[in-house]
Amino acid sequence: MSTAMKFDPKRTVSELKELRELTGDENGAQRVAFTPQWVKAREWLRQKLSGLPVEVHQDAAGNLWSTLRGDSDRALLIGGHMDSVPNGGWLDGCLNVLAGLEILRRIDAQYGGKPPVTVRLVDWADEEGARFGKSLFGSSACSGNLDMQEARGLQDRDGIRLPDALSGHGIDFERVKESGRELEHAAAYLELHIEQGPVLLDLDLPLGAVLGTFGVERHAITFRGQAAHSGSTPMNRRRDAFRAAARMSPEIYAIGERSNGGVCTIGSCTTKPGIVTSVVEECRLTLDQRHLDPGALARMLREARDASERFAADGNVQVAWERLWQIEPVPFHPELIDLCAAAIADTGGTSYRLPSGPLHDAAEVARAGVPTVMMFVQSLHGISHNKIEDTREEHLEQAVVAFDKLADRTLAWISAARPETTVRG
Ligand SMILES: [Zn+2]
Repeated sequence: MSTAMKFDPKRTVSELKELRELTGDENGAQRVAFTPQWVKAREWLRQKLSGLPVEVHQDAAGNLWSTLRGDSDRALLIGGHMDSVPNGGWLDGCLNVLAGLEILRRIDAQYGGKPPVTVRLVDWADEEGARFGKSLFGSSACSGNLDMQEARGLQDRDGIRLPDALSGHGIDFERVKESGRELEHAAAYLELHIEQGPVLLDLDLPLGAVLGTFGVERHAITFRGQAAHSGSTPMNRRRDAFRAAARMSPEIYAIGERSNGGVCTIGSCTTKPGIVTSVVEECRLTLDQRHLDPGALARMLREARDASERFAADGNVQVAWERLWQIEPVPFHPELIDLCAAAIADTGGTSYRLPSGPLHDAAEVARAGVPTVMMFVQSLHGISHNKIEDTREEHLEQAVVAFDKLADRTLAWISAARPETTVRG
């Protein structure tokens, strides 16, 4: 039998500080996945779990699962990630895990170690992709979406290949997708995360229910004109690639502004020949467009293409588009979004709903077909992946309370559903 611990959100805050002491330095958190500091963070987590009647194992992709067996195999999953970027913040990822740990304690105490459904805490491996440049490694292996060929070739800065780094942690790269069996009885997935943006801060709200993660369309747009002498070529004789790009740019921002919640970013602009005495022959922009609604995202892309072609024709230059990357929007489960909003209202908050610009492990779990929702807690400065990342302690505590209420409601939701209505299992 377990030594039951009373639910205490203050403990989550003090454990976050403990972890910061253990695995951070004056520049911030240093828990980069598959490094000794990350291993240390996980050992610390295992110690914390050792007081609970949970079975702990690492899956084929290096994700760490802690399972509190219930009367039913159908499982409530709560997830996060202990890994951080180098010089990272003290909350990104580990808040999720430690809030989940506190909920495990509460559920264990409430049900005498045997809840009505199974409850599992997962610490995803390498969410950040800081070392090999590929984020959501563990969760995308588990969801089945990991591109094996691409991942096989990844190397870190020292030329160490991802498969070799993994084998040092007991992971056989060729078998990472076997981790998918962990989702067999998954009935719902919950993740608490800091917002990492300024939306809740600007609204002066501590918490938000997340609608889903943005879809992304990422393209390079190249305008081609003709290089010509900057002194001898009259304005009306020029085929200026930069001018066409420059005239298109305000239209791109307008597309973002009228998209009802989407964003457009021109992240880079390079010119050739790129010298002060020449009209620009070639101008290459990169464009990143995001929206939660697939129709709106497609429209944003179409409008941007139309604008590029219009200004290219106008300036007597050519334009070509190349897709760099794309992912569809991942909407979360409508009933779980409602439960999340209700849990926030239960703690006295306004239940605001917002999309997530960044991707999260939750998106991979949702793509695997598991009903999913996330809860956001306000970020001070609206900033993350930086040692100044912070959230007020009272908001952290409120987040743990609200997230626990969400877990409670979701547990009841799973129990009430007929088994055949679950997506997998
Ligand atoms: Zn994160």
